[in-house]
Amino acid sequence: MSTRKVTSPGLLERLQNGAVICAEGYLFELERRGYIQAGAFVPEVVLEHPEKVYELHREFVHAGSDVVEAFTYYGHREKLRVIGKEELLEPLNRNALQIAADVADESGALLAGNICNTNIWEPDNQSTHAAGRGMFEEQVGWAVDAGADFVIGETFCWVEEALAALQVIQAADKPSVITFALDADGLHGGVDGVTACKQLADAGADVVGLNCSRGPATMLPVVEEIRAAVSCHVAALPVPYRTTADVPTFQLLHDASCSCTADIGTFPTALDPFVCNRYEIAEFAKKVHTKGINYVGLCCGAGPHHVRSMAEALGRTPPASRYSPDMSKHAYQGTDEKIPDYYKDLGKMYE
Ligand SMILES: [Zn+2]
Repeated sequence: MSTRKVTSPGLLERLQNGAVICAEGYLFELERRGYIQAGAFVPEVVLEHPEKVYELHREFVHAGSDVVEAFTYYGHREKLRVIGKEELLEPLNRNALQIAADVADESGALLAGNICNTNIWEPDNQSTHAAGRGMFEEQVGWAVDAGADFVIGETFCWVEEALAALQVIQAADKPSVITFALDADGLHGGVDGVTACKQLADAGADVVGLNCSRGPATMLPVVEEIRAAVSCHVAALPVPYRTTADVPTFQLLHDASCSCTADIGTFPTALDPFVCNRYEIAEFAKKVHTKGINYVGLCCGAGPHHVRSMAEALGRTPPASRYSPDMSKHAYQGTDEKIPDYYKDLGKMYE
């Protein structure tokens, strides 16, 4: 067992008093940085380049994240089986948790364990349920050993799989955050996101909501409905991409202006033209917070600048705010008296 002290105040106390920001999106960001392979998307980086994981955790906390989420997403038994490295399962999980615990302890942020979609769950196949539950039990066990403050179960597309994850977290006596990833038509199997969250809330989840798949525009209306349907805390962690009513998830985005991705598709490695700017993320944060949705964050595609905008929109001044934009001293567009008038005049060409 860990000798780590639980962080105070804890998740539920913080949620009672206001917003909790949770930065996610480690897979996409470390893939862009060249330390994770797109496709399998397994976080071997926690063993191969732990310094890069430390760095990104620290960048997200610097930008305003209240949570350090251990990078165990897709570090589960099935993913390691697919890449033929099951022997790395336990060291990968324990390393990821230790890295996250170190950053949580040095910063005062909360340490979250993480479990996720197993990719083996089949609704009518009991043996996959037993195997899936076993995957949750081993990962939650390691999170408990590491002294996690709470456990996130995320990106679920089956209600029963999420319920199993919740039960395992509850058995470990940890607060739970359970989020679903919605396809265009809801979950696999056709259940809508509101009904799914209600079932999880009824089963005793501390926080329910959505993460991944949908951008701010197409997640907002659903989390508002979830907020109205449950009495527990609600989570909203969109991907920072410009999804629309016609194209509600980032998996469906198609960049018609780019012929070089015609064969490979736009998701997941060519989504760049659809990235939300920081101001759109700030707007989303304000909107959900006004509606009483207190657990907010971002998923795949997020960078520290998005997290800082979210934090500032909620009235925070994280350390990274020291470097928030101030155009008054820009060489051409600045208004400061020290900027020569000649250059201010030249700057009018940008207006
Ligand atoms: Zn995601």
